[in-house]
This record gives sequence, C-alpha cells and structure tokens, in this order.
Amino acid sequence: LFAGETEFLKGVVAMDGLPPDDRIEVCFAGRSNVGKSSLINALTGRKGLARASNTPGRTQEINFFTAGEEHYLVDLPGYGFANAPVAVVQKWQALLKQYLSGRTNLRRAFVLIDHRHGVKSVDEEIMTLLDKSAVTFQCVLTKADKVKATDREKVLAQVRKALSKHPAAFPEIVVTSSEKGDGLETLRTIIATLV
Ligand code: GDP
Repeated sequence: LFAGETEFLKGVVAMDGLPPDDRIEVCFAGRSNVGKSSLINALTGRKGLARASNTPGRTQEINFFTAGEEHYLVDLPGYGFANAPVAVVQKWQALLKQYLSGRTNLRRAFVLIDHRHGVKSVDEEIMTLLDKSAVTFQCVLTKADKVKATDREKVLAQVRKALSKHPAAFPEIVVTSSEKGDGLETLRTIIATLV
C-alpha cells in the first residue's frame, strides 16, 4: 500500500540532519514499550526494520524510513522512561519541539497508546505539544490482543475523553494488534490517502 518497500534512511539527532521535506511524512510517538517498533515492523511487513526504541543510545534519535516513492515514516524516540536523566529528557524534548513545529511536510502524528493502560500523563504532554505545534494527531491503540473484551470499552471511553480535550486530535481511534494484524490495513490506508 505504500507502493513499495520501506527502507531505513537515517537517524537524526539535530534539526540540520533532517532529510529534505519532499515526501508526505507521518510520525509515530509513544511511551517506551508501547509496541511502536512492533507496529512499524508489522505495518511495513519488515521484521527488524524498527529496532526496539529502548536500546540505550538510540533513544534520542528520530529515525526516518522511506516508504515507497512518496512517504517518510518517522519513528520518534519512546518517551516516559522511568529513570532517564533529566538532561537526556530535556535534550529530547527540545529536538521534538523543533521537529514538530518546523516540519512542513508532516501530515499526521500517530500517538500510540497501550490498549490495556489508556492515556497516561506523559501521553497528555505529547498531545498538548502536538496541539501547540498544530500537528493533527491520531490515536492508535496497541496490543489489542492483550485486552480483555470486558475492558475494551472502558479504555476506549477514557481515550475518547482525553482526546476531546485536544484540538489537534483526529477523532477516529485506530485499534491495532501487531501480533494478530488487527488494524494494520486501516492504518496503511490512512497513511496512503493523506495528501
Ligand atoms: P517499543 O519500545 O514501543 O518499540 O515497543 P516494542 O515494539 O519493542 O514492544 C514492546 C513489547 O510489547 C515487546 O515485548 C513486544 O513483543 C510486545 N508487543 C508489541 N506489540 C504487541 C502486540 O500487538 N501484541 C502483543 N501481545 N504484544 C506486543
């Protein structure tokens, strides 16, 4: 659906390293361990493409992938590390702010939320930053296969309520499981139809 292969392009640690803004771009954000690497790998059908974002030393890179001829997929560093040093967090936040506010080809951010846990305060912070940066974001629930059917609606309601407070939030929530394949085609279609 991305009309071709996805390839790793580069990891960026500063704004001057960004690739040219000549493709439609979407980015993926989420707490560490939310299942972001798994989702990108499942979406692109390439195991091992996105490495676990919690590998030390890679935590502050913004990773760019080319998808087919027309898209960049961007893997933002995972946030919400329990014991990350303050300086590391601040450096990351500064880069993230610059990236989100300055990237003209960025069409949508996908904010990944673990379907078992719902929206946490660090997710709210990212959503607020996206509001301020005027970047439309869409919530993607991950690991749907791990949620009991009886808990699903409760978490969905919590997420909807959180999204309702954010002007930049796109209302449709995408429910996914990288393990089972749920929602992947929906997400591919969303990305492919952004202009
Ligand atoms: P990241 O830190 O956000 O990149 O998270 P990873 O993709 O490395 O996933 C964190 C953990 O969650 C790993 O143990 C994955 O195997 C697991 N995981 C990710 N996606 C799913 C899913 O859809 N279903 C299940 N059951 N486990 C998942």
